[in-house]
Amino acid sequence: MIFLIFILGLIIGSFLNVVIYRLPEGKSIVDPPSHCPVCGHKLSPLELIPVLSYILLRGKCKSCGVDISIRYPVIELLTGIIFIINYIYFSDLIILTGGLIFSSLLIILTMIDFDHQILPDKLTLGGLGVGFIFSFFRSDITVIYSLAGILAAGGLLFLIALLSKGGMGGGDIKMMAMVGSFTGPIIAVSSIFLGAMIALIAHLPGLVSGKTGMKTKLPFGPFLALGSLILWFWSEELFDLYINLFI
Ligand SMILES: [Zn+2]
Repeated sequence: MIFLIFILGLIIGSFLNVVIYRLPEGKSIVDPPSHCPVCGHKLSPLELIPVLSYILLRGKCKSCGVDISIRYPVIELLTGIIFIINYIYFSDLIILTGGLIFSSLLIILTMIDFDHQILPDKLTLGGLGVGFIFSFFRSDITVIYSLAGILAAGGLLFLIALLSKGGMGGGDIKMMAMVGSFTGPIIAVSSIFLGAMIALIAHLPGLVSGKTGMKTKLPFGPFLALGSLILWFWSEELFDLYINLFI
């Protein structure tokens, strides 16, 4: 079963690549079919096999020989692994399905934020709707708890945005409201702090060497997404660790 979940993850990962590439450019997700962006060569079924096709083609387009970004198989593998972790942690089918959707959204948002410094409403607000609807059917959280998550995480970031006078984007606010709809307030608010901590550590070398000034605009989205994903799986472990360290 774990193997099947992994294969499903690879296939969904391949679809996430399409969304990451096409959605910000306003292109259709389904039409035209997958093709080489340089020569337009339409990919055969064999060339559409996740990861394996990349290895078989040695990372090059079969038609024109242009290098295919290593990012494609990496995203596919990453999605496969994250799907397995979801499967291990959530035995309830509804929660598992919600987890797979939630993780997929965070992967897409991270990559689009990296590439374009935007977090599209279709994904953040759309995902928020999905998370909220799921809460009606979930046994682990209530509808009120999901709503509290949306308001707490979105509200906190909105406040930070007001206080920092634009240091925080509207996309970040909507994304964390989406996270709250899936996780409820405690994990969502903790994700903001964890994301900020990871961002600080990641940017520390740049800040110390003076390459990154305090006024430099840094994309915060990928760190928020990473913090959210970590706490989606390991909130209990990290809360325990925090209590042992500081209380
Ligand atoms: Zn080509």
